Amino acid sequence: MTLVMTQPYRGRLAPTPTGHLHLGHARTFWVAQQRAQAQGGVLVLRIEDLDRDRCKPQYTLDLLEDLAWFGLRWQEGLDLGGPYAPYRQQDRLDVYQRVWQQLNRLGVIYPSPHSRRDVARALSAPHEGDREVILPPQLRPDRWPQVEQPGAVNWRFRVPDGETITFVDGNLGLRSFTAGQDFGDFIVWRRDGFPSYDLAVVADDQAMAISEVVRGEDLLLATAKQILLYRALGWSIPGFYHCPLVRDQAGRRLAKRDGVNSLRSLRQRGITPETLRQIVNL
Ligand code: GLU
Repeated sequence: MTLVMTQPYRGRLAPTPTGHLHLGHARTFWVAQQRAQAQGGVLVLRIEDLDRDRCKPQYTLDLLEDLAWFGLRWQEGLDLGGPYAPYRQQDRLDVYQRVWQQLNRLGVIYPSPHSRRDVARALSAPHEGDREVILPPQLRPDRWPQVEQPGAVNWRFRVPDGETITFVDGNLGLRSFTAGQDFGDFIVWRRDGFPSYDLAVVADDQAMAISEVVRGEDLLLATAKQILLYRALGWSIPGFYHCPLVRDQAGRRLAKRDGVNSLRSLRQRGITPETLRQIVNL
């Protein structure tokens, strides 16, 4: 008989308090809750408030109320404490600094003093809108002075050009993205002294022993980048489950800035959580 040791299921809700949560967030979080419950697991609430200019404490208070109203419950996070506290990213800068140091020691990241404008100028093809910027070879240094602290400069992860990163998404199946084509050297540390989203989220998901990451489909490409970070750091890679984005009647993705679909405003209009769950097929 073989004994199979399974890790306990640990999922997370990772809202960013830059505005009021909308129905799309609630839908994704509901799926996260269902998946954790189905496996007798634990759900962690982590507040992703690294963007100091745009995150507001009031939005954190409001989202706690909105999530609870929608029927979401978590077992760790915020004042609930637990072994991985604190759960606010602003309080975890030391964790991220240690990860920067590890990556620096491994030689897989490099300082990148170029502004967006420098990058745009060096690219031969014009870069449109939200498309990923692939750093051109002349802006990727072969050597740079060794330092112990990041300093006031951006740092990028050097991606393995031409390598296809493949993962099996729990919802969407096999997904692949090619480094150097679908995405280029991405920022891991910012010159303002804060980690990038990708570094912080990988550091936290590892530290909090998250076994499955449930999030929106808009972060599929980020998953490929994050897998490269896990791999470089020698950490085991969690499962991923990306949820479809909720769209408005005109087919546009919901955004925090359009208040009409916020949970708050739906609640104020007297719509119940049960009705909302039906609307988004939960
Ligand atoms: N905090 C991110 C957001 O609100 C989600 C990050 C993640 O799930 O990895 O979009």
